[in-house]
Amino acid sequence: MYEINETHDPNLKSWVESANDPNTDFPIQNLPFCVFAPLNERIRAGVAIGDFIADFEWLTEEVLEGSAVPYFEFNRGERFDLSNFRIERLMALRYELHKIFREDADLTVKELASHGMWKRDEIAFTSPYFIHDYTDFYCSIYHATNVGSMFRPDNPLMPNYKYVPIGYHGRASSIVVSGTDIKRPHGQNRSDQDAPPVFIPAKNLDYEMELGFFVGKGNEMGEPINIADAEKHIFGVCLVNDWSARDIQAWEYQPLGPFLAKNFATTISPYVVTMEALAPFRTPAFEREEGDPQPLDYLNDAANQKYGGLDINLEVYIQTEKMRNENIEPHLLSRSNTKDLYWNIGQMLTHHASNGCNLQTGDLIASGTVSGKEKDERGCLLELTWRGTEPLELPNGEQRRFLEDGDEVIMKGFCEREGFRRIGLGECRGRILPA
Ligand code: MN
Repeated sequence: MYEINETHDPNLKSWVESANDPNTDFPIQNLPFCVFAPLNERIRAGVAIGDFIADFEWLTEEVLEGSAVPYFEFNRGERFDLSNFRIERLMALRYELHKIFREDADLTVKELASHGMWKRDEIAFTSPYFIHDYTDFYCSIYHATNVGSMFRPDNPLMPNYKYVPIGYHGRASSIVVSGTDIKRPHGQNRSDQDAPPVFIPAKNLDYEMELGFFVGKGNEMGEPINIADAEKHIFGVCLVNDWSARDIQAWEYQPLGPFLAKNFATTISPYVVTMEALAPFRTPAFEREEGDPQPLDYLNDAANQKYGGLDINLEVYIQTEKMRNENIEPHLLSRSNTKDLYWNIGQMLTHHASNGCNLQTGDLIASGTVSGKEKDERGCLLELTWRGTEPLELPNGEQRRFLEDGDEVIMKGFCEREGFRRIGLGECRGRILPA
């Protein structure tokens, strides 16, 4: 696992003033990677610091030149090219960036680096990787129990749940970056049980608050990944909104699981927060109830049990069109935390490759809806409104069972721990357009 080192020092300040704001997601202790394009210019990679994105294209030429950093491993002008990804190299780059942005950096470095900085409103983000494959798990036992109890009140949790990290293969082509509008999908609806299904715009459109992670280094087909090595294959994390049409899902999901109810769109936040930046926010693996089985050996090891979890706070907000017009701030719908996931990221990755399935650089793996025990910790509307039977009241008197046209869903993620600097994952937002 990753050690806490001088890059995590909470007293460290940056010469980029906005990075020292106690509420910023991007202090010098974070340094997440992203891919973006300034207006009318080509795509390049960079790192977020305070209110700015520092441009690698520029940094590599002028500032990092001559340093030990293998910046040539980044495919300049394209997406990240981490096919030669090695965790040591990534850590070396993060360390160099940390030196560049420290308050006490060399004057020439400051002067040089300050020319390669973009304001967030001067650029448009794009996906940090070319994503070949996307897999979505179902790792929150609270989410699984809630959803299960709507359909099977006597037997909410399937007997496999505590043994197998449940997942399905999602669709990579429809993954979009935060800020992209989402068109309401059409699909088969069979809410009238006495009539044949009808093909109409989805009525029960929902979001799912999830944590995603990117595969840095893959594995050869036929060669599983040991649980002890799992995190060496993970580049970092992002926020994921797994948009879901519940009416389409209810009719199509048996016997093979989700399909058109989910693959019309998935939104990700643009920043990849590295595993090293998350080092101060590790937690033990989920503490299983007395009598629950322990994970099978291939999903169990001492380090994973001790540090396999992640303490990331997740928040979901909604702003309806009416709220926007009335200048009403987005309304908080839920708060949950990834430390409540029954299966952690190392276990997801190891399980995925355990049959010899080859994971590839840039694969996106998501946790499934992150819900907690409490009512206000439910990570989707299906749970929050209990299938639409308990509508939510919004501050301006509006009600919601599911998402309406014009609604914007805003997801946020951040880590806080006594003795460490707060870091954030940024935002993942999307607005619903009519069908
Ligand atoms: Mn999902």
